[in-house]
Amino acid sequence: MIKEHQIEAILWGCGMMGQIVVRYLHEKGIKLVGVIDRNESRVGKDVGEVCAIGQNLGVSVRPPEEAEQVFEETQANVCIICTRSTIADLYDLFEMAARHGVNAITIGEEAFYPHTTSPDRIQKLDRLATENNCTLTGSGFQDVFCGHLVATIAGAAHRIDRIEVMTRYNLDDYGRSLAEHHGAGMTVEAFEQTVATQDTPPFNWHVNEWLCARFGWTIRTQKTAFVPTIETETVRSTCLELDIPTGSVTGMRAIVTTETQEGPVVETQIVGKVYAPGEEDLHECTIAGEPTISLTLRQPATPELTCATAVNRLPQLIAAPAGFQTTDRMPPPDYSPVAFDRTRPLRV
Ligand code: NAP
Repeated sequence: MIKEHQIEAILWGCGMMGQIVVRYLHEKGIKLVGVIDRNESRVGKDVGEVCAIGQNLGVSVRPPEEAEQVFEETQANVCIICTRSTIADLYDLFEMAARHGVNAITIGEEAFYPHTTSPDRIQKLDRLATENNCTLTGSGFQDVFCGHLVATIAGAAHRIDRIEVMTRYNLDDYGRSLAEHHGAGMTVEAFEQTVATQDTPPFNWHVNEWLCARFGWTIRTQKTAFVPTIETETVRSTCLELDIPTGSVTGMRAIVTTETQEGPVVETQIVGKVYAPGEEDLHECTIAGEPTISLTLRQPATPELTCATAVNRLPQLIAAPAGFQTTDRMPPPDYSPVAFDRTRPLRV
């Protein structure tokens, strides 16, 4: 039986993040009605078993070829997408949700502010979502910690000259491909010829654009620099199973600097590296101006914060205007022990 105002959700992508999302949905009273994942180790199993939450949920993981059926068979009003990072990879999934009039949110990083990097795809999705009266958006760690938190503390500033946001994470907490993508283990020369010259904007590119949109600033220039991180002693990488010698690359800093027509400069950095002893995850924001405001968050639990933010956004996602709506146009996500859909007619 569907309870009053209950949210019904489809989860697309049941990997590391998706599995946290499942537990959070369950504990917030949101009914999971479908799960889609392509990983053979998960397809066909009950999602409760896949996520080790101690009970079966009566929903089995279906392969992407059955996604259309999942949308047709259920009355989901939200879809949470935890598969990949880029709009190129997320497009078909958003398109499927929008065609069925299902609101969709992803933690894929480009979707946080994709208007300039994928304008054609976003315009198509915006049209489709508008025609089908549903909302599409991107959220995740940056929604609160690089976006709304910065906007909130800026509300206590008299004048802003510069905004700086830095997030540091340990490559050994993730898979081998992320470490390779950051150049860990390379010589500086190899890094300069490959990682440093890539055309793909880093994930914080979208954060700078989100912040400028949120503050109503017009971007004059926006530049990226990929800088290798190097230690003064040998560092062991567990994910690469490699000792990285002094002078070689342990990871990178991706620095995005934006100059605005109004004057303030926005500089964000993501620092992904194999940690030297004593280093820990860190998130820092500084608003330089009158007065200068600094905030440091030690050891943020990024995966959990990412998933809780996306789940807490669901009631707002449902209530938001139709179209592709970035979260700079929404209030910050609200905490609630139980999530409801207040727009849904009472059904028993
Ligand atoms: P993961 O452990 O690799 O899980 C992704 C799952 O989705 C895998 O099971 C994968 O299958 C599946 N998948 C990928 N494409 C699919 C498709 N088209 N249809 C069905 N299933 C598909 O990754 P994760 O750590 O959960 O992260 C998921 C995404 O979220 C990544 O892009 C990551 O960068 C992003 N992320 C964002 C934030 C943020 O704050 N915004 C934070 C953390 C992660 P295979 O295993 O077969 O590939």
